[in-house]
Amino acid sequence: MNTKSKLIVLCGPSGGGKSTIVKFLLENIKDLTLSISATTRKIRESEVDGEHYHFVSQEEFLEKIKAGEFLEYEEVYPGRFYGTLKKHIDDLLENSNVIFDIDVAGALNIKKIYDSQAITIFIAPPSMEILKERLHARGSETSEDFKVRLEKAEIELSYAKNFEQIIVNDDLDTACLKAKDIVQKFLK
Ligand code: 5GP
Repeated sequence: MNTKSKLIVLCGPSGGGKSTIVKFLLENIKDLTLSISATTRKIRESEVDGEHYHFVSQEEFLEKIKAGEFLEYEEVYPGRFYGTLKKHIDDLLENSNVIFDIDVAGALNIKKIYDSQAITIFIAPPSMEILKERLHARGSETSEDFKVRLEKAEIELSYAKNFEQIIVNDDLDTACLKAKDIVQKFLK
């Protein structure tokens, strides 16, 4: 394991602006690479296999669990698994710092494994009401998924206090700059 490279773990409810912030950090901080997770959820129209996720079947995912290939994995939503592959992270860490967009349980597991080599950052919406509006505006979910994601958001928010840094995203540009500042200081 390359102990010089660092891990940046971003977390927070769906619709909270996390992916925009991750994209901003990737574009504005050098030597930073995104961890691509494996998932069993269905691919969205806007997504590319291997770029956003490695989309796999439930059988393949379960095989990988059995083979011990995951650094961490969670059933983030009922019947939908997401996981970080050990080999993928070892390979990335050889040459780069790595940024993760994963759920709270996964984030805290990564922190437990990598300790001071990792930083955990929680992106919180200003309120549940605003989160609901943002998720609605995104329009990528069915009404059942929407409900599931809101329930998950409430649980995730209750874990925010366990994170080393919390950024309240009331303005996306400001949140991006705050995240950049935190990450740059951590990488120094
Ligand atoms: P989405 O379906 O919107 O892409 O992601 C759903 C949730 O799964 C997000 O909160 C995302 O951060 C989380 N997630 C994505 N990949 C992983 C992973 O590898 N491990 C864990 N624990 N959570 C993940």
